[in-house]
Amino acid sequence: MEQRELTCIECPRGCSLVVTMENGVAVDVKGNFCPRGKKYAEKEVVSPERVVTSTVRAKNGSMISVKTNKPVKKSHVFDVMDKIKVATCETPIKIGDIIIKNIDGDADLVATCNSD
Ligand code: SF4
Repeated sequence: MEQRELTCIECPRGCSLVVTMENGVAVDVKGNFCPRGKKYAEKEVVSPERVVTSTVRAKNGSMISVKTNKPVKKSHVFDVMDKIKVATCETPIKIGDIIIKNIDGDADLVATCNSD
């Protein structure tokens, strides 16, 4: 059996987790204060995912804060960032507007702020 140490990123408490693995899956999780940590650890050791947050330059020069509306595979984060770097958008923008549809699979890039 293999053990991995992780820090739960589901909330600011940042619990230190110890995951016991067998045949590539988590069979035990210790150190989690709540059930979300167990769920996070089980997913993280098999197929880690992240919500990507960044900014997109609007054509009027302002910066629009954005994020993916669902987590994307951690291995896709750099590809997503490359698409964000070259993206621009028209204003006005409202929170929740889609800036890039299907930026990764069925995940969209959405605005997390209102433009001027
Ligand atoms: S295990 Fe629960 S309390 Fe601990 S960091 Fe994760 S979400 Fe927060």
